[in-house]
Amino acid sequence: MKLILLGPPGAGKGTQAKTLVDEYGIPQISTGDILRAAVKEGTEMGLKAKAFMDAGGLVPDEVVIGIVRDRLQHDDCAKGFILDGFPRTVPQADALQSTLSGLQKELDLVISLAVDGEALVERLAGRRACGSCGRGYHVSYEPPKKSDVCDVCGAALVQRADDQEETIRKRLAVYDEQTAPLIAYYRGCGLLRELDGMKPIDEVRTRISDLLKAV
Ligand code: ADP
Ligand code: ADP
Ligand code: ZN
Repeated sequence: MKLILLGPPGAGKGTQAKTLVDEYGIPQISTGDILRAAVKEGTEMGLKAKAFMDAGGLVPDEVVIGIVRDRLQHDDCAKGFILDGFPRTVPQADALQSTLSGLQKELDLVISLAVDGEALVERLAGRRACGSCGRGYHVSYEPPKKSDVCDVCGAALVQRADDQEETIRKRLAVYDEQTAPLIAYYRGCGLLRELDGMKPIDEVRTRISDLLKAV
């Protein structure tokens, strides 16, 4: 299964990707996670990316295209992959097509999750993640059993620096301008399937499974 999860920040891409990893045994490729790890490690790429991420803007295309091009060559992508947060611009989508055709692979599906602007702000403002194992939560919609503590490993939950209201609004504007055009792009290739991302997490999960069964 070679899949793109497309949608604005907070649409639920990461949440859904994580369950698909277990169900299909294919990796989640999240450019956001890869970039945050690089920032944490203080690599040259991380240093370059940090200012763009903190400001809620996009990291330059050549940086993220390079990340994904390398990642797709790993052995664990042989059976498929879930792209989460990539592509985010038309040049990234074009680069993905040429990388995949070089590897003699083709995308199966692009699933677009649609969510209202105000709901996105609420989701992102309430998003938390475990500082140790990375498991995601939401203070209201997916709360941990004990507040601010990870159910899985007991470590403290943290909030992302870019999940502050001002930066959230900037990221949503960047999405409308630079990423939303990919909906028409993938509709044009016949790969797009659109889902109502406003539904509860489990219901969205069922709808995605139905689409994947039909491939
Ligand atoms: P979200 O979960 O809110 O959609 P991500 O974790 O995917 O956010 O991305 C966090 C930040 O990392 C983005 O705001 C952007 O600065 C950078 N980033 C991630 N993926 C890309 C990409 N494909 N192109 C450019 N920048 C990216
Ligand atoms: P993305 O990766 O698209 O930026 P996430 O998967 O991180 O989005 O989800 C953003 C926040 O919203 C998380 O706190 C998550 O728990 C919550 N969330 C995800 N899907 C839903 C949903 N269908 N309904 C309510 N909250 C959701
Ligand atoms: Zn944890």
